[in-house]
Amino acid sequence: MIPVAASVELSSTALQHNARKAREYAPKSKLIAVIKANAYGHGALVVAQILAAEVDAFAVARLDEAVALRDAGIKQKILVLQGFSQAEELNVFLQQKLDAVVHSDYQIELLENQPVSAKLSVWLKIDTGMNRLGVQPAQFKSLLARLRAVAHDIKFMTHFANADNRNDAKTKQQEACFLATIGSESGARSIANSAAIVAWPSAHLDWNRAGLMLYGASPMINESAQALGLKPVMQFCARVIALKEIKKGVAVGYGSTWVAPKDTQIAVISAGYGDGYPRHAKSSTPVLINQQRALLIGRVSMDMLTVDVTGCSSVKIGDQAILWGEGLPIDEIADCADTIAYTLMCGITARVKTSII
Ligand SMILES: *Cc1c(COP(=O)(O)O)cnc(C)c1O
Repeated sequence: MIPVAASVELSSTALQHNARKAREYAPKSKLIAVIKANAYGHGALVVAQILAAEVDAFAVARLDEAVALRDAGIKQKILVLQGFSQAEELNVFLQQKLDAVVHSDYQIELLENQPVSAKLSVWLKIDTGMNRLGVQPAQFKSLLARLRAVAHDIKFMTHFANADNRNDAKTKQQEACFLATIGSESGARSIANSAAIVAWPSAHLDWNRAGLMLYGASPMINESAQALGLKPVMQFCARVIALKEIKKGVAVGYGSTWVAPKDTQIAVISAGYGDGYPRHAKSSTPVLINQQRALLIGRVSMDMLTVDVTGCSSVKIGDQAILWGEGLPIDEIADCADTIAYTLMCGITARVKTSII
């Protein structure tokens, strides 16, 4: 095998560990693994295969994501979080045995106008304050009555806006709104995303929907993944491909934004924004080389980035550089780039080779 310049290693044991952790946090709830957006950049099919025996269902955002999983032989329950928006999609949901989220009244009309033999399994989504998808609490009773006539096994769900902050009062308000809206209607219920799984136990209902935590990043602001018992699944790796001495006063990289404050030894690393490393990572973002933290200097390029290795011992050509993963939390890199772990994971590009370890 030829060594690759930029690669991702996925730890199947960390993925399984995090799924078990989600169950430990919420032992009474069934667990849905959210694997939308190619499992947050990890690969939807491999993640589904690794988690098949660990979780009760999968969720994706869109119909085509669900169909790809069915085509690849995934048999578990799959929930499509955006549901359907056109009549032509309804037969696919039925044929492929997919669950649909119903979030708007026009979708109920589509069901009423579609003469289908079997009835769709649906999750009626209530908007309790996110103000994105979901029916308004005031419409709930009348829409549910119509839905009962054209769908079966109706479940209820909502989504939190601010669950990542333990001090935010909105989460409890959304939860109370959800329970009050459903009242005594029968049907399984689901609220919790990763943040609610770790921080809001009263929101653990029949089904929980874990995304980010499965991949080992922290769903909470100001709390590390490690402190929450989560292990990083993705290790983003590259190599040292050049070493050089930079004299004091000399600039490195595009725009000459970094000028050596003193004589500096730099290493050029074989990954850049063309692989998914954030171009906006600021100078001093850490990169791990031989267990030592080398700090990013200058602008990130498409295929390369540069780090200061002056203080690091014995860095050689070919050494592995870890851009995030074990020993270098993705949440820390996200902070350095003014973004969140979700975007970094989703941003890994197609040329990066993935292997499962
Ligand atoms: C993406 C998503 C989730 C998972 O969210 P995490 O924060 O990644 O756990 C849960 N529910 C819905 C509706 C989602 O869109």
